Amino acid sequence: MVIDSHVHRYPPEVFVNPTAFAISRGEKHWQNLVAAEKGPTIQGWADRETMLADMDSGGVNKAVLLGWYWEKPETCVLHNRWHAEWIRRDPERFIAFAAINPLGEKTIDELKVVRDEGFRGIGEILPAVQGFSMRDPNWLKIVEFAVETGWPINFHVSELVGHPHHGRTPTPFTDFQWLAETYPELKIILAHWGGLLPFYELNGHIRKSFANVWYDVAASPLLYNPKVFRSVVDVVGSEKVLYGSDYPLRLYPSKQEKPDFSTFLAEIQDSGLTELEQKNILGENASRLFGFEQ
Ligand SMILES: [Zn+2]
Repeated sequence: MVIDSHVHRYPPEVFVNPTAFAISRGEKHWQNLVAAEKGPTIQGWADRETMLADMDSGGVNKAVLLGWYWEKPETCVLHNRWHAEWIRRDPERFIAFAAINPLGEKTIDELKVVRDEGFRGIGEILPAVQGFSMRDPNWLKIVEFAVETGWPINFHVSELVGHPHHGRTPTPFTDFQWLAETYPELKIILAHWGGLLPFYELNGHIRKSFANVWYDVAASPLLYNPKVFRSVVDVVGSEKVLYGSDYPLRLYPSKQEKPDFSTFLAEIQDSGLTELEQKNILGENASRLFGFEQ
């Protein structure tokens, strides 16, 4: 079983004109990232049929539809309506996470609705873009809901030092330490290799505090040398790493016209991991974390 823990999907009416959509919703950050008006973009788009065909040819059984870190609570609600429809249509292929912004007044009601619809987690979340702090009381109500429900929360994380890529926003590591230590039962997924935070698990204190923290590998080819697989697994173990692609992002912009799953999966198979480690990363860990029977 191969489970991709990190994909994004939008309806055709959005990707036919992303800029118009962004302007109509007041989503400046998303607009800057995905609808850049100048220069080549690494953003790809895929409708249902394309996505399912790409999953089939890559051997991906299920994919987790992550919400976006919208600035407006109303856009989160809209995104959740898309996800609800898509998991109803293809329940065997898609798993939905909820988009949420604590600036909204009815976030807990919204989370109860999506829980009843079969959603399985929250994210991606990026507090600095969404306009709240990690200690915001309304945000912590959402965290407490996740703890009670057993849901993981996926955070967008970028490295503290690196190339100054488009849309870089601070994601302070100390915020995640505070969250993990304040809510030890919360299941935390730090996306994009946690911005290399897993190397801090070499510190015994962090190792202990981060017992319930996982790292997804989304967009890895755009960010890191392939050695990151062997190196991080040597530090934290393969049980804490989740395969995720960030599809339909073009992970190999110089040699890839359209996004796919297979190129990155082939790179992972070639990254010096044992069979057992690959099995954990590609599906077993996600299966346990999201509560599926194999
Ligand atoms: Zn992300």
